[in-house]
Amino acid sequence: MITGTTRSAGVIGTPIRHSLSPAIFNAAFAACGLDWAYLAFEVPEGAAGLAMAGVRALGLEGVSVTMPHKAAVIDALDSLSEDAARLGAVNCVARGGSGLEGHNTDGPGLIDALQIDEGIEVAGRRFAVVGAGGAARAVIRALGAAGAGEIIVINRSPDPAQAAAPLGGPRCRVGVVDDAAQADVVINATPLGMGVVVTTDGEPEPLPVPAERLGAGQVVVDLVYHPATTPFLQTARARGAHVVNGLGMLIHQAAHAFRLWTHEEPPLEAMSAAAVAALVHRDRGTEHSR
Ligand code: NAP
Repeated sequence: MITGTTRSAGVIGTPIRHSLSPAIFNAAFAACGLDWAYLAFEVPEGAAGLAMAGVRALGLEGVSVTMPHKAAVIDALDSLSEDAARLGAVNCVARGGSGLEGHNTDGPGLIDALQIDEGIEVAGRRFAVVGAGGAARAVIRALGAAGAGEIIVINRSPDPAQAAAPLGGPRCRVGVVDDAAQADVVINATPLGMGVVVTTDGEPEPLPVPAERLGAGQVVVDLVYHPATTPFLQTARARGAHVVNGLGMLIHQAAHAFRLWTHEEPPLEAMSAAAVAALVHRDRGTEHSR
């Protein structure tokens, strides 16, 4: 029950109505018996600073930050974690000794999804990361920090790839799509597969990596989690690879935020079940509106 002593948290972004975070965090608070509540706030582009002033005035305990505010919010914060500062992006704001602290939990979220959920040790393995945007940069930095043996950055545009590669440290380099065949783990960190990329000739979205570069013995990861099985994962599975979608990363990045805010251990099963239920609910809603 929400009372006068309930502590509050939320997510800012736009569009925000399809965010899974309210379901994930409210399930986590309930599972831990915490008197907390989490809401989604539709904050237009350019208003991240205003939103942080609101967070200070209203005393929110924690805020998740999503598109398009991950970089813009930085100027409105009091301090940054090393990851957030290096990436120039914040996905989680917590209250600390110095005021509002910006963190980035996306990369550690993927590492936990691989190591905890899938039993895939990162240290020493060869990775190919397709994409060089915000998610890819966070993943590249986290893979480097976790001791990946090699990280190959593959991106449509060369400049973002060149800018991202130093985040992975000395074993990270820019490569081409054919290099994915040599990787133990291939990660799609582009929106290809979400069904949002418009092709000019009416063709279906291309795969991030051609099918012939994928095969048995590889792990193929898509940061996309809706649909649960993208054409990329479908293709990789058909070619004998072990496939992992982005839901684990989403849950584990939230788990890191939960720890930062509450200083308690996150109830991963409850968070995961809530996310899956919210996705099913969302799909049913889409069917009804057709
Ligand atoms: P972003 O910053 O906009 O970066 C997009 C990247 O994808 C860029 O490298 C871009 O290449 C590339 N790209 C876009 N369209 C492409 C196309 N048609 N063909 C080839 N490459 C293309 O986006 P982001 O925030 O990194 O997000 C990337 C994906 O990760 C999204 O699907 C997002 O939903 C997902 N994600 C998942 C989680 C999770 O928890 N599972 C967390 C964060 C993000 P250029 O440099 O050439 O433009």
